[in-house]
Amino acid sequence: MFDIYRGPVFDMARKQFSQAADVLEIPQDERDRLLYPKRAVAVTCPIHRDDGSTVVFEGYRVQHHLTLGPTKGGVRFAKTVDIGEVAALSLWMSWKCSLMNLPYGGAKGGIRVDPYTLSPRELEALSRRYMQELIPFVGPHTDVMAPDIGTNEQVMAWFMDTYSNDAGCTVTEIVTGKPVSCGGTQGRREATGKGVTHLISRAAEEIKLNLNGATAVIQGFGNVGSVVATELHERGTKVLAISDHTAAYHDPKGLDIPAIIKYVEKHGVLKGYSSEILTDPKKILTIKCDIAVPAAIERTVDEHIAKELQCKILAEAANGPTTIEADAVLAARPDKIFIIPDILCNSGGVTVSYFEWVQDLQQFFWEEEEIINRLKKLMDKAFYRVIALAKERGISNRLAATCCGLERVHQAKKARGLFP
Ligand code: GLU
Repeated sequence: MFDIYRGPVFDMARKQFSQAADVLEIPQDERDRLLYPKRAVAVTCPIHRDDGSTVVFEGYRVQHHLTLGPTKGGVRFAKTVDIGEVAALSLWMSWKCSLMNLPYGGAKGGIRVDPYTLSPRELEALSRRYMQELIPFVGPHTDVMAPDIGTNEQVMAWFMDTYSNDAGCTVTEIVTGKPVSCGGTQGRREATGKGVTHLISRAAEEIKLNLNGATAVIQGFGNVGSVVATELHERGTKVLAISDHTAAYHDPKGLDIPAIIKYVEKHGVLKGYSSEILTDPKKILTIKCDIAVPAAIERTVDEHIAKELQCKILAEAANGPTTIEADAVLAARPDKIFIIPDILCNSGGVTVSYFEWVQDLQQFFWEEEEIINRLKKLMDKAFYRVIALAKERGISNRLAATCCGLERVHQAKKARGLFP
């Protein structure tokens, strides 16, 4: 059924769904309704290149379910984007929003493009064209976009401006992750990374690890990984290794994170920072440390990496970093690694997006302190619910988190009934 949703990423999400549906004993005939996306839109986005030629990019938006409110999720600009990947990411957004008790279903969007090959003018044209094509299918109460890999505050500002020009008035609540100057919220940019670090500190309490003096490695140095590095560094954790798509560095004495952040602010990427401490990016997560943070893309922790991990905490800042096969390896390891599963670990981003949406709808804005406090409260609630369920049922933290997310959607669908 629905063989448009193909590929390893969707297969992985589908298997995670089955595992959780089995634990929750969801009847077989109710499963397809919970698994498959409600809507999937494919668009062609033509733009003029700077040299005057015309080029067409393929874009997608998948809205997983509309049971709890609007759909919510990021838009990614990346070479690897396809509809199977976008659909899988929309499922994970659904479970994440539900786990955090947000009034949303999941969505995800993407354009198959390497954004680094576009000029600033071409990037603006493509961003605007994508939103223009999707105007009939999105809205503040239908589907609310946000940043993801390859997009940022500026792209969100163009999305909002394009939608607003069509509406004839400013509609700030159509996207989240905007600049603060045009309806964005305090704290959104750092929210995912701060949330990840907050849960690392909770996990550390559970396994009695002192973050001051602990060691960490981080794969991915974008908006999430760089904030986690800074936050851990400020707590006295030595960051031994980091990587992005251009370079990887390892220093057993601990990296100078403030200096690297300054370098990346200037140059955009890690490449060129040092030639002495270069290391193999594929090996970064398996370096001996207390905390390993995959903060890049899906499926970077496969069964081989899972066997070689030497950490005590695996904090999944990326979406879907650990494959099903790797999960099985991790479950069988005698030295249990404390896993903070992705839909819990990186939920700080969408939670502060929710705060942004609420503030925009009310045109009443909060202080950063209030935002961070509310974020920590919601994340704590979800964290302790997940680890309690995992203990009670003797299941992994991932399965427990997926069950928490899925259960609420299942109950809401049952209560609302099936029309007509
Ligand atoms: N792209 C982010 C995620 O995967 C944020 C989504 C949002 O803020 O809506 O969670």
